[in-house]
Amino acid sequence: MIQFLYQQQPMRVQFGAGWVDRVAEEVKALGLQKVLVLATPQQEDLAERVAASLGQLSAGVHAKAEMHVPIESARAARDLAVQLGADGCVAVGGGSTTGLGKAIALEYGLPIIAVPTTYAGSEMTPVWGLTADGVKKTGKDSKVLPRSVIYDPELTTTLPVSLSVTSGFNAIAHAVEGLYAPDGSPVVSLMAEGGIRDLLGALPTIVDDPSNLEARAQALQGAWLCGAVLGATTMSLHHKLCHTLGGTFNLPHAETHTVVLPYALAYNAPAIPAVMDTLRRLTGSDDPAKHLKDTSTGLGGPSSLSELGFGAGDIDKAVEIATQNAYANPREVTAAGIRQLLQDALTGAAPRSPEVG
Ligand code: NAD
Repeated sequence: MIQFLYQQQPMRVQFGAGWVDRVAEEVKALGLQKVLVLATPQQEDLAERVAASLGQLSAGVHAKAEMHVPIESARAARDLAVQLGADGCVAVGGGSTTGLGKAIALEYGLPIIAVPTTYAGSEMTPVWGLTADGVKKTGKDSKVLPRSVIYDPELTTTLPVSLSVTSGFNAIAHAVEGLYAPDGSPVVSLMAEGGIRDLLGALPTIVDDPSNLEARAQALQGAWLCGAVLGATTMSLHHKLCHTLGGTFNLPHAETHTVVLPYALAYNAPAIPAVMDTLRRLTGSDDPAKHLKDTSTGLGGPSSLSELGFGAGDIDKAVEIATQNAYANPREVTAAGIRQLLQDALTGAAPRSPEVG
């Protein structure tokens, strides 16, 4: 008999073109009076636009978000939020900016309104990350889950094509792992299937025509669904490997997810026949792992870990870290299996199911 637990996240979602100029409505709906607007230095103009639209509701702009939230950057943002008397944050940007908002929320409990501009999905999760002395620590805390998320597809038309593809595959990876998560459910599977369908459908149009608003809206809707899957489930081999490759070898986040996904899926394939059937139906291919690889590289994505700066000499250490702690995965995780997976991913060989014994 089917059995599951599904817990709905306490969150509002506003979706639609033009919402970037209506953030004040959401600030008021949450009863906030003075919010600090966060962004990366690259997206400072956008943050200023949001702050201007907020008028008296804006406490100021802090455009200093960085990848992986260095602790010094978190402390500076926390101090500023206190100094300005902010009672909430508006995080306008990708996972790095949402991550900075989460660092403030973790310390002071300030509610976050996230305005995502990539497909990474951090806005849908209670997971925070902080980097100190070169080591990234992550944890789960319901107080860092944004209270409100505003998805405006117009904001994603400026996302460079290469990052659109890799960020899209980053999102697809959440959905693929959600399909076999130990805490999955029928609702999660529906969201995962919808997210994969939306992103695989929209990305080719985005590559041809990055300003196509309909395709951008479809991709962003897919990213929302995939992010919701990430927030609702426990991730397995794929995410553990990417965490190791990003955290220890400093490989770029979205690109690493794009390269690793077909290999992690091929690794698990023998243990997840029903999920493979679902993915065959969604991709129209007998070999979904190969299909994902061919699609991402066909859209200009990276095809091997070596392209991202990972070397053959890094494999031993990566195998050791990735097999150090036990975690939920549908197929047994062994050093021999992970070594084979990484060797294939290093060179961009065709994804296959390695022997795990
Ligand atoms: P990012 O936030 O680092 O953004 C990458 C670059 O793209 C930045 O310079 C940013 O300013 C720019 N950018 C973003 N949107 C843009 C747009 N629409 N137009 C032009 N430029 C734009 O990248 P990301 O992939 O969204 O986030 C990666 C980070 O998020 C990693 O640190 C990862 O660990 C974290 N993350 C956390 C979670 C979680 O649940 N905690 C989930 C996913 C990702």
